[in-house]
This record gives sequence, structure tokens and C-alpha cells, in this order.
Amino acid sequence: MRSQFLPFSTPTIDDDEINEVVDSLRSGWITTGPKVKRFEDAFRAYVGAPFAVPLSSATAGLHLTLLALNIAPGDEIITTPMTFASTLSIPVLCGAKPVLVDIEPGTLNIDVAKVREKITPRTRAIIPVHFAGQSCDMDPLLELAREFNLTVIEDAAHAAGTEYKGKKIGSLNTISIFSFHPNKNLTTGEGGMVCTGDEALAEEVSLLKFHGMSREAWKRFAASGSPNYDIMLPGFKYNMMDIQAAIGIHQLPKLDGFIDRRTEIAEQYNREFADVAELALPAYAPYPQRHAWHLYTPLVRIERLAIDRDGFMAELKKLNIGSGLHYKAIHHHAWYREHLPQPAGSLPNADYASDRILSLPLFPRMTDDDARDVVEAVKDVIARNRK
Ligand SMILES: *Cc1c(COP(=O)(O)O)cnc(C)c1O
Repeated sequence: MRSQFLPFSTPTIDDDEINEVVDSLRSGWITTGPKVKRFEDAFRAYVGAPFAVPLSSATAGLHLTLLALNIAPGDEIITTPMTFASTLSIPVLCGAKPVLVDIEPGTLNIDVAKVREKITPRTRAIIPVHFAGQSCDMDPLLELAREFNLTVIEDAAHAAGTEYKGKKIGSLNTISIFSFHPNKNLTTGEGGMVCTGDEALAEEVSLLKFHGMSREAWKRFAASGSPNYDIMLPGFKYNMMDIQAAIGIHQLPKLDGFIDRRTEIAEQYNREFADVAELALPAYAPYPQRHAWHLYTPLVRIERLAIDRDGFMAELKKLNIGSGLHYKAIHHHAWYREHLPQPAGSLPNADYASDRILSLPLFPRMTDDDARDVVEAVKDVIARNRK
């Protein structure tokens, strides 16, 4: 057994990031400024998006996007039940009704073939989530959106560096919202980015993110700025700081290397677990794509074991192996059980995954030995708890 606890994720921070943050602190300019602009330009170029708006989080990005689209009470938004809180909570807080479509059993991405039957005259938008860093099947989804005049908002929180048919997520001329939370493939501490080909939308999100002030208002205390500003509309306080961008500037050039290392570990897991009947391994989508391997999420076949998934995670912890839960399906959470009840059996793949899924340790600094410890612990827990 390992002597030291292995967390399920930890950010990769080097001296580059640390020195850049210190530079910001010493410079006298801590909040939104030139480093945010540098990070915005670099990220926009990396994903190939015409416009990008840096923000304090992806949740903020979802909020401002829905406001910019005038999503209002009565509107319906189609999305997946296998996602984080904000994919649903922001539509709900805007008064919209989330409409859940089941996932595919292998990739755990939204089942695009089942979207059409959920479209009504009230449907305004679709929010696909590129689960674990693997792209949803965007071509048929975009075609459907065109047919019904719907907006596609990609929840790209897992998908920095993900590609679909040779194109980076962020470059598909939709709206893509990235997260830079510490667990994500690229971090700024906290942070997010809205990428889009729609200039008017980018401008609106940009206004809303900082008190509704015109775009250059952050400069008003700098020599090059004017202390005067105008409020164009009532806005929020969702700007990214230079301290955050300082981290991102040095994370971005390393992102492809991070993904390469994540892929090696994921493939090591795939090989080692290939003959373990008690696990259902994550599947690759059948179309060309680059998986960013944000998460490695096997399903534990609890019907073959004497313990449930939570018990399985507790056993791993006793062996000093951390794990994560991404996700308990959204409609199994208390508020949604009460306010968005789903007919029994209507989301069978999400229900199945929800009770069985766990996230094994996966981060760039993991060694092959760390991964071997995880494999050993997982096999040990299975061996001791077989029915
Ligand atoms: C992390 C995450 C978010 C929220 O990102 P924040 O930057 O923490 O607001 C939204 N959706 C998904 C799928 C996520 O994993």
C-alpha cells in the first residue's frame, strides 16, 4: 500500500507561474490589466476563436451568455444530466427550464440522436458538455440547431485542447465556455473564458462582466487611460484579474504537454483494466477527435460487488488513493428531484452511470508508479469485495 495519499487531481504549477504572479504583485497592477489581455489573445489564438472574453469563472461565462441571449422565463434549454451544477443552475436562475436528454453509455456525452424529440417551440438553446474532455458529436448537433434556429452553447469546462474532426473546441463558430478552476486541464486559480465567432455577443458579455462599463474602462487608473467612463447598462463584477492571467499565460504553452501526459496515464489505465469485468471503461467516440483526458471515469459494476460506489471510493481512500465523483446525475440531486422531476426510467444511461461512476487520479505530474498504485488498489478492492 502507498505510504502517501494520492489525490485525484492537483494543478501543475512551476516557477514560471509563481514568478509571474510575484511580478504582478510587485508591479502595482494586480487586477484586470495587460496580462489579462495577453492571456485573452494567447487563448483565442490557441483555440482559434475570433473573439474571447476572460472572466472570473465558467459559471460567470454561462450567466452572462444567457443574459446576452435574453434567455427568459418560459424558455427551454436542452442539456445533459451528467454535468456540474452550473450547467443547470444558471439556466434555472435565468428562469429557463432545463430539458434533460440522456447520455450515450460509452462516452457519457449527450446522445445527439435523442435531442430532436425534446425540441419544442419554446426551445432556445442546447448546452452540450464535452464530458471528461472528449468532444460531443458536433456536426449533427449543429445541423439540428440550424434547422430549428437554436443557439449552441458548448460547456467546454473539460475541453481546453479538445478537438473535433481536426478542429479545436472554441473554433466551431458557436459559443464555447472554458473553465480554469484548479482541477481543470489549464488553471488560472479560478477563471473562465467565453469564446465565440459572434462579435456582438462578445461585446455584450464584455460589457456585462464589468459594471456595464465600456471595454477600456479597466485602464482608467493607468497613464494611458482616462479616469472618465460611461455606464452603458447595469452589469456584474465577473472580470479576470492579472494575478489569475499571470498563471494562465504560463499554463497555456504547457497545455498540449499536459494532455499528452494525461493521455499516457489514461491509456495505461485502459490497458491494465482491459480484462477487469467489474469495470466498464470510458469509450472513445467513433469520429476523429482529440480527447483532452480531463477525467478518467470508469463505471464500477456494483451488481457484481458486495459494496456500492461510495463504499468503493471509501475502500480506495483506505489504501491512500483519492477519487472524485463526476458526476452524480443532476436529476438525482435534492433540488432537481423536487423541482425538475424526471419520469422513472426516462434517462436510463445517466441513471446507470450516476450510481457507478468515479474519477480515478489523473494529472500531469503523476508518475507511472503512481498509476500502478492506483491500478493495484482498484484491483485489490475488487478482489476483496466480489459477490
Ligand atoms: C468546472 C465546471 C463548470 C464550472 O466552472 P467554474 O469555472 O468553476 O465556474 C461548469 N461545467 C462543468 C462541466 C464543469 O466541470
